[in-house]
Amino acid sequence: MREDFLLLNPGPVPLSDDVRTAMSEPMVSHRSSEFEAVYERAQDGLDYVFERSTLDEAETSAGGTSLVLNGTATMGMEAAVANLADEDDEVVAVVNGKFGRRFARIADRHADVTRVEFDWGSPVDVDAVADAVSDDTAVVTMVHNETSTGLLNPVEAVGELAAEHDARYVVDGVTSIGGDEFRIDDWYVDIAITDGQKALAGPPGVSALYVSKRAEAHIEGEDAPFYEDLDWHLRKSESHQTPFTSAVPLFRGLAVAVEDIRHEGMSERIARHRRQSAAFRAAFEAMGLDLFPDLNEHSTYSNTLTAVSLPNEVYGDPDEFMSEISERGVSISGGQAHLGGQIFRVSNMGNLTSEHVLRGVRTIGESFDA
Ligand code: PLP
Repeated sequence: MREDFLLLNPGPVPLSDDVRTAMSEPMVSHRSSEFEAVYERAQDGLDYVFERSTLDEAETSAGGTSLVLNGTATMGMEAAVANLADEDDEVVAVVNGKFGRRFARIADRHADVTRVEFDWGSPVDVDAVADAVSDDTAVVTMVHNETSTGLLNPVEAVGELAAEHDARYVVDGVTSIGGDEFRIDDWYVDIAITDGQKALAGPPGVSALYVSKRAEAHIEGEDAPFYEDLDWHLRKSESHQTPFTSAVPLFRGLAVAVEDIRHEGMSERIARHRRQSAAFRAAFEAMGLDLFPDLNEHSTYSNTLTAVSLPNEVYGDPDEFMSEISERGVSISGGQAHLGGQIFRVSNMGNLTSEHVLRGVRTIGESFDA
């Protein structure tokens, strides 16, 4: 792999030299004070990201706990749902893409699920969610930034509904947190989930959860999957440890990645992600391409990822186009599930510079011409 190969996939994203160096340090025991110091740094940095993800870095939470799990975001999603819902509980799952659907599938294994479903790429109709949420609803699941379609979903409006009915609100901020606004308390979020390898610009293999004080009161650890018992994770995290062996190099990489975010500052980081996604959208439109999906007055494009409809010459069979791009040292992603062959997706999550954005645009443009 050439050293300057540029990953513009929506995760994993490129790692800084500091993160890579941290991951190759000599091993320590996960029960050592050295490891506790690493986890503490990761928690401090994550507290900052979870609690200050606004354009002015105003505090967005009245208190909660940042946890790191040995496992990607899917594990974090399952941990959140399985700790808040019993098998007889009703979970309302809002689905308008692959990751909303994943939440519903996870919840199917732990509770009684009502899906509020929209076509992938359609905005969430909040009135339809209102019809589904009632005082019997225990948990509502929602994806903030739907990575499969490039749409930003109305987390606040759905959060208001969950709060009105005293339901717990679990939000997947996997491809927004660390790159876009995320307001824990204003949006009534009880548990937020993100991934190391996305906008945090850390390694794949670890996910992070923010468990609000409100959520803690509802966590029933003993009924949760053993490895994902959040009550246990919360108790161990007080001494900056995990219940089981921690993925030490990944925790180290994550600790450095979140410290780098604090150095940049969330407000500047969010503004940079917005500039860069706007630049990608403008460049693709200037090439005559159509962004995916068509927007209507209820939908908003993601600030961390751009989806584009494949033009006729490559529609249905994009393999050659994708290889042209990767031969030029850049990697992007195609569509997922039934959107395969219909769209391509370009991420601007993490620590991209303007030079990276220009290189991405130039490479994709040249690959159409090739
Ligand atoms: N949620 C969203 C919005 C995602 O984009 C992804 C991965 O792309 C996930 C959840 C699941 O992440 P993982 O496959 O790393 O568990």
